[in-house]
Amino acid sequence: MTGAPGTVPSRSLFGRTRAEVAAALPDREPVVCPLCLQPPAPLATDFQGLSLARCRRCGLQFHSPRPVLEQLATAVYGADYHRPDESIADARHQRHYAHQLSRLAKYLDSDRRRVLDVGCGAGAFMRFAEGAGWRVDGTDMVVTDAARTTGGCVWEGELPTIDFGGARFDVVRFNHVLEHTRDPLLELRCANALVAPGGILLVGVPNVGGVSPWLKSWQSRLRLKSKRWRHYAALHHLWFFTPATLRLVAEAAGFDVVRWETPVMGRSDRSAALTGLFRAVLETGRAGSLLDLYARVR
Ligand SMILES: [Zn+2]
Repeated sequence: MTGAPGTVPSRSLFGRTRAEVAAALPDREPVVCPLCLQPPAPLATDFQGLSLARCRRCGLQFHSPRPVLEQLATAVYGADYHRPDESIADARHQRHYAHQLSRLAKYLDSDRRRVLDVGCGAGAFMRFAEGAGWRVDGTDMVVTDAARTTGGCVWEGELPTIDFGGARFDVVRFNHVLEHTRDPLLELRCANALVAPGGILLVGVPNVGGVSPWLKSWQSRLRLKSKRWRHYAALHHLWFFTPATLRLVAEAAGFDVVRWETPVMGRSDRSAALTGLFRAVLETGRAGSLLDLYARVR
């Protein structure tokens, strides 16, 4: 899992043929909608032969049948999933992290600065937030050496399996993590128990309802793309959220949404005014390709 949106594994199955993916991930399991407990309708098959589906009732999109997580752990989340250079946030991630921290600070008293970063990856956010005066602990399926050298505690495993010893946090943050999990509703229910009274849940995910993904989906449906549905990144994304469906999951887990934004990760090497204007238009219209949701425990 990654704390850094937009990054992909360096040596991975990404871009490989259907046959190579089928050989590396031979076993698939059907998934029911965690909200409605119903099997989904097929939505599409991507260029690597991976199955996208959509709940008929609530519209939540997800990967089904999907590769079993034990095989994903080996074939996708290998030792090189987090590159060493991801341990320090680059300029565009620093801007994004600074924005998230400033938004979180608006919702919290000034003495409440304890964060749990679920899926902390190489610890880039942990380091950045520590530098800004926050106390940050983390979790990940496999904790990296880089994350262990941050100032916080790190726990290894899926969130529902971790014993935090009664610890509570002012912020529980899932930044580009929830879409990788076995069951996002279960993850957020666990988060609900970990957020201290008055605390905040922050969930960042790709937004398949954004303008750019929406256009790519139509290009995929109309067979105008050679690598159809590549933007869903189904190889490591198991859930595909829109603002509406992420809200449904958060509410079902006992949260009330207080804010959502659709940030655009501007590339630092493309700082032209036009790019900045395009980004501002998408963010104002809440049509960007990322989705950041802030919520309180109900
Ligand atoms: Zn559903």
